[in-house]
Amino acid sequence: MTYAIDGWFAIDEDGVRLLGTRCADCSTVCFPPRPESCPNPRCSGSMGAFPLPRRGRVWSYTNACYPPPAPFVTAEPYEPVTLAAVELDEVGIVVLGQVKGLTVEQLAVGMELELTSGPLADGPLVWMWGRVA
Ligand SMILES: [Zn+2]
Repeated sequence: MTYAIDGWFAIDEDGVRLLGTRCADCSTVCFPPRPESCPNPRCSGSMGAFPLPRRGRVWSYTNACYPPPAPFVTAEPYEPVTLAAVELDEVGIVVLGQVKGLTVEQLAVGMELELTSGPLADGPLVWMWGRVA
């Protein structure tokens, strides 16, 4: 399997996991993972790996009806994609992703979604948001 981005997510027998980090002192959670120092300006704690919840609720959403510019690789002919910003359960951070199998007409703020994965137009896998299984 080729991942679109190394070190941001993993796919195993349990499904897709986003690879976050959390501060050992103040519990600040980060995604994308931040292995260096804590981003909290009042904290000098160290960050450790932290598995993020696989579900969350739609915070906002949209679609992209025309292709983004290069170097982004798009399918020919271009098929519009749906994008959602999802607030993860428990940790409350918002993670953007492409939505698999749902259109903007089928989405609503507050709707629960679950992590899944799918290929980008040029092949590598990326995390996506999908219906709760
Ligand atoms: Zn901290």
